[in-house]
Amino acid sequence: MDDCIFCRIAAGNIPADIVLEDDSFVAFRDIHPKAPQHLLVVPREHLLSLNDLDLWQQCEGHHLLGFIVRAAKEAGIADSGYRVLTNVGPDAGQEVLHMHFHVLGGQDLGDFR
Ligand code: 5GP
Ligand code: ZN
Repeated sequence: MDDCIFCRIAAGNIPADIVLEDDSFVAFRDIHPKAPQHLLVVPREHLLSLNDLDLWQQCEGHHLLGFIVRAAKEAGIADSGYRVLTNVGPDAGQEVLHMHFHVLGGQDLGDFR
């Protein structure tokens, strides 16, 4: 997907502050952080959103969760705590149409909102 910003970041074609990567996933810092630590975790494969999960083999979802934990450890927030969220579609305000998970931490995040 040449016109997808997260595909291009995952492919190394545009710069990003990458925290962790493996064959399937990349974690990099959000360009407009909403917490002291704000990572985005994306699959290298272009899926529009979590609604596309059926396109994956079942084990990939488990691998994704494991990768998110490893990224949180790498960012130093695994013990202090963090929040994982993904926006799906217009009502959630999804801006980038490549499935991604926000990993937020580094401070008391307050109530869920
Ligand atoms: P969404 O609203 O789609 O869930 O979140 C998209 C996120 O991607 C936003 O938090 C935004 O700051 C981030 N973002 C958009 N473009 C770029 C970019 O080019 N580089 C990085 N690192 N983050 C981006
Ligand atoms: Zn993409």
